[in-house]
Amino acid sequence: MFDLVLGTNNAKKLIELRLLLPEDRVRLTPLKEIPGAIDVEETGDTFAANAAIKATQQAQHLGRWVLAEDSGLTVDALGGKPGVMSARYAGTHGDDEANNDKLLAALKNVREEERGAQFNCFLCLSDPSGTVRLEEHGRCAGRIAIARSGSAGFGYDPLFVIREYHRTFGELDLTVKRAISHRSRALRRLIPRLVRLVDQEQAATASG
Ligand code: IMP
Repeated sequence: MFDLVLGTNNAKKLIELRLLLPEDRVRLTPLKEIPGAIDVEETGDTFAANAAIKATQQAQHLGRWVLAEDSGLTVDALGGKPGVMSARYAGTHGDDEANNDKLLAALKNVREEERGAQFNCFLCLSDPSGTVRLEEHGRCAGRIAIARSGSAGFGYDPLFVIREYHRTFGELDLTVKRAISHRSRALRRLIPRLVRLVDQEQAATASG
């Protein structure tokens, strides 16, 4: 078994990530179960930079392998905003209701065909020395609805319409989100590479 710390405190993200990682090869410990984990400040101006900051700083601090992710929403009509500010768009970190209200207000006069948006997810795996060993990303395209629909998921899910389904992530079952989300896509790209890396690391440990 390969011990990996999942560097997120977001319970919903944790559930989505956990469902996809190979349980027989990787033992996952969520950050909140690790005594002494630090609260890493997201000071980067890209998703990739923030994922790397969260993975490498926590890994170095704990002396353990850490998989971190940074994700968020980019809206075409807002020039890519809220972007890395997605979690704190309206001011308070993680206030989903206020963030959704602010987004609806910002797009008040924008027509349906111009409300295109993307969810983005960047993953970063750091080894215990704080060196980045793997990076991946995933993207999910959609559009921002005129009003909220549904209560599944979290964050901007009630406003994010998947065109093919004519439904928001808030209305769709979690199995659909698991199939097509930015996080799932990033993770599906990462997993074969992670399994290869685990094999190499375990072979290196076995040979002394
Ligand atoms: P962070 O990665 O913790 O900095 O925050 C990501 C923020 O982006 C979340 O707080 C949500 O607002 C938004 N976000 C990321 N992924 C999703 C998703 O799958 N659904 C809805 N909102 C998301």
